[in-house]
Amino acid sequence: MTSTTPEHLDILVIGAGISGIGAGHYITTELPEKSFAILEGRSTFGGTWDLFKYPGIRSDSDLHTFGYEFKPWEAKDSIADAHKIIDYLRETIEENGLGEKIRYGHKVVSADWSSEDARWTVQVERDGERFAITAGWVFFGSGYYDYDQGFTPEFAGRDRFAGQIIHPQFWPEDLDYTGKKVVVVGSGATAVTLVPSLLNGDKRAAHVTMLQRTPTYIMPVPKQDPLTNLFHRAFGHRIGHDLSRKRFIWQQRGVYVFAQRFPDLARKIIRRENAKRLPEGYPVDVHFNPPYNPWDQRLCAVPNGDLFKAIRSGDASVATDKIVTFDETGIELASGEHLDADIIVTATGLKLKLFGGVTLSVDGREVDITQSVIHRGAMLSGVPNVAIAIGYTNSSWTLKIGMLFRYITKLIQHMDARGLDVAVAVADPDMPTRPALDFEAGYVQRALHELPRQGEADDWRMSMSYFEDAKRLNSELSLGEESGLRLSAGTRAAVTV
Ligand SMILES: Cc1cc2nc3c(=O)[nH]c(=O)nc-3n(C[C@H](O)[C@H](O)[C@H](O)COP(=O)(O)OP(=O)(O)OC[C@H]3O[C@@H](n4cnc5c(N)ncnc54)[C@H](O)[C@@H]3O)c2cc1C
Repeated sequence: MTSTTPEHLDILVIGAGISGIGAGHYITTELPEKSFAILEGRSTFGGTWDLFKYPGIRSDSDLHTFGYEFKPWEAKDSIADAHKIIDYLRETIEENGLGEKIRYGHKVVSADWSSEDARWTVQVERDGERFAITAGWVFFGSGYYDYDQGFTPEFAGRDRFAGQIIHPQFWPEDLDYTGKKVVVVGSGATAVTLVPSLLNGDKRAAHVTMLQRTPTYIMPVPKQDPLTNLFHRAFGHRIGHDLSRKRFIWQQRGVYVFAQRFPDLARKIIRRENAKRLPEGYPVDVHFNPPYNPWDQRLCAVPNGDLFKAIRSGDASVATDKIVTFDETGIELASGEHLDADIIVTATGLKLKLFGGVTLSVDGREVDITQSVIHRGAMLSGVPNVAIAIGYTNSSWTLKIGMLFRYITKLIQHMDARGLDVAVAVADPDMPTRPALDFEAGYVQRALHELPRQGEADDWRMSMSYFEDAKRLNSELSLGEESGLRLSAGTRAAVTV
């Protein structure tokens, strides 16, 4: 290699969050002879679980399915605090020797595929300098949202507010809210985590109000699952993990399918569970009865019903109303009510950003990803040798990621055995398509026009079902042209097998 020849690797993984670290495991175990690196823009691993610092930050999913298939989740809590997820990821890095593969402070800005050389040239920024690395494959483990900006709607009078306005994505760790009146604007997973947590730690707010325009479905779940812990005690962590995982996969799917098939009944059950935990005479239908059906948007889990306990204590309340304006002392609502606040937390969501903001081009022509169709949830049509990691939005993200990376590593093994080194998904230009995510969550709806697309046929549908993916990604693979994949020898000589 001369000083002008970029370093070359077989595989470049972008991002050292739970997806990128998982990819590292599958490359190490399934493709041990491949050279690879994981480029991480930040100074540490963990992605989401390191970025968010708000009080109580935790998973919504159980860790038996949010954790990896290959590494048992041994802690007793099924719903886990962020620092425990970070510990788990640290162990995964150590156990798989990934420490030397992750390069921190390496932000990928663009990737250009050369058909002539059958490789990617990836532009990387480090310490303000830009340099290139070439790679046979690029695996995206870059998450789905913008790390630099959260989403906050325009609020009239915002500048008039005399207190502090905080977005949970940029929580100042030294924020002292002791004895203060806090209004949390939002009703998603972050808001329902924050409300009880602001009343429970070393610091303690005087009162917390969750202000929502529209209610969310909220279900109490046990933080520790007795059956899971029994499995682990009786059979050890390996078998215990496999059993718990299977059980939670079935449970998640069962709840989802039930909610979609019998929305009225599901709504009644959720309402009953909420009402049981709220004070007598509480206006459940005003604050906890959304206008949409259960699981049309992500259902929020509250461990051990902590949100309801906070409301029952009188230290937390919910307001369902429209904001007219912020003023010097709080928020004026459409109903005429005024919420006094010292601190306003805008738990109003994320800004979607796919593929880490990396500009993709093929032979110098920029790829318009809104015209690409996702193949088997794993590749983008017209973009060779690229793997993407978009997990489930209706159950644990990681369940899908494991299957995707196993599929891609199998595909590479299949190609290696035949002397092939270019895989591209080819979509029929007449195929009817729609945006890749059918999900009503605000951050998806706001960004529909920026998403790649999906088709109707099996290989082109963005499946949100573990069982469907297990069938199409895990079983005997069809890797011929009929599956929409075109495999070729690129710069190699094909071999007959
Ligand atoms: C507060 C919160 C709670 C959540 N809870 C759950 C839950 O309980 N269950 C669930 O299924 N999902 C949950 N999610 C969704 C969650 O983000 C994903 O499930 C999962 O953590 C995503 O992992 P990831 O590795 O794909 O992405 P991320 O965690 O976002 O990690 C991406 C990594 O890629 C790096 N990166 C991005 N672009 C570049 C680039 N251009 N160059 C170099 N590096 C780059 C980032 O710095 C980051 O480290 C939650 C999300 C949030 C925000």
